[in-house]
Amino acid sequence: MKLQTYDELLHSKYRLTVMLFLFLNTATSLFFLLNHHHQSPSRILLPTLLIPTMSTMLLGWMFLKPQAKFPLLNSVALITGILWAWHIALKYELIFYFDGSYLLISLISIFFISSIALSDHLLAFCLHTAPAAATVLVLDNGNNLLMILFTIALPLTGFTLHHFMRRRSDGFTRRLMSQLYEEKQTYSDLSMLDPLTGLYNRRGLKNRLQNVLENHSGSHFVLLLDIDHFKAYNDNYGHAMGDQALARVSVAIRDAVRSRDIVTRYGGEEFLVLLTNVNASIALKLAERIRQYVLDLDIPHRFNERVATHVTISAGIAPLFDDDFELALANADRALYVAKNQGRNTILCWDNLPAANTPQPADIL
Ligand code: GH3
Ligand code: MG
Ligand code: MG
Repeated sequence: MKLQTYDELLHSKYRLTVMLFLFLNTATSLFFLLNHHHQSPSRILLPTLLIPTMSTMLLGWMFLKPQAKFPLLNSVALITGILWAWHIALKYELIFYFDGSYLLISLISIFFISSIALSDHLLAFCLHTAPAAATVLVLDNGNNLLMILFTIALPLTGFTLHHFMRRRSDGFTRRLMSQLYEEKQTYSDLSMLDPLTGLYNRRGLKNRLQNVLENHSGSHFVLLLDIDHFKAYNDNYGHAMGDQALARVSVAIRDAVRSRDIVTRYGGEEFLVLLTNVNASIALKLAERIRQYVLDLDIPHRFNERVATHVTISAGIAPLFDDDFELALANADRALYVAKNQGRNTILCWDNLPAANTPQPADIL
């Protein structure tokens, strides 16, 4: 399984921790079960049986259902901790006459399991070790008090420090990750916008188009717009003025359409507007409004031969059939071409083209 996010990584780490913890408990209790030479089988202790039974069942379940919600580590730690304490108490009755170090060794075993599996989980560590520690303290009756307290205090202090260090570095990693995601989002947004006009670029259009086609089944129109005689504008007024004019025309286009329409800078002085969920007459009205808004900008253009004394725009419009964007674009492009030939500052609809210009099926293919 490939981990995608930091949270997924933590989740998987947590799952492995629970499994390791269960495995160590199973192994240790099985070792005790197999090592009971001085006891008859009937004296096998109940908790010593319960620990591996519960652990293997949980382990098996976690193996078979890796996606399922895992048992909470803290409750499993507490239950096994209590079972271990019970085991120590029962076994102590059987052996304390000939094994003086039994209590200390038992305690160290529990701390051993906890320190291997629960080093990142302070609470689970305490829940697992506390019942055994308390039981050992009571059973020992003060004989080895200092030794037992030392055995408890040393790992506990170490783990507390370790825990806080880990939390600090986890917090740091988490902050770093969220910063990274934010930046990724910003760059992804920026990569879809045209820097001069702030409109979508082709990548942005592709992204939005996909979204529109997936979520809106209404009728859509592709409107292709091109500034008239813009080369002459650039040549005479300079590139910087050309840029300014482009930016102002972009604002006019954006203002003329609805917020749900997708406005793109499709090429140098070419724009594409995807008019979404709209009928033909409103689409034409919106296109006409763009033409008028651009004209109303009153950007002087003395070289817009025979069209106007200001910057103007021509456009072709075509419906989007069967989600076929390329075909709609080709149709709008033909309409734009005819609009240019008809004298510019004009909008033409693809299905209103003069017969000679109507694309034949062979052309479309
Ligand atoms: P038509 O009416 O047939 O569209 O004529 P036109 O001159 O507008 O068309 P043409 O394709 O010959 O020229 C387009 C011009 O647009 C060429 C280029 O100087 C200008 N242009 C394209 N991108 C930019 C840009 O980012 N900034 C500036 N200032 N000019 C640009
Ligand atoms: Mg042009
Ligand atoms: Mg052009």
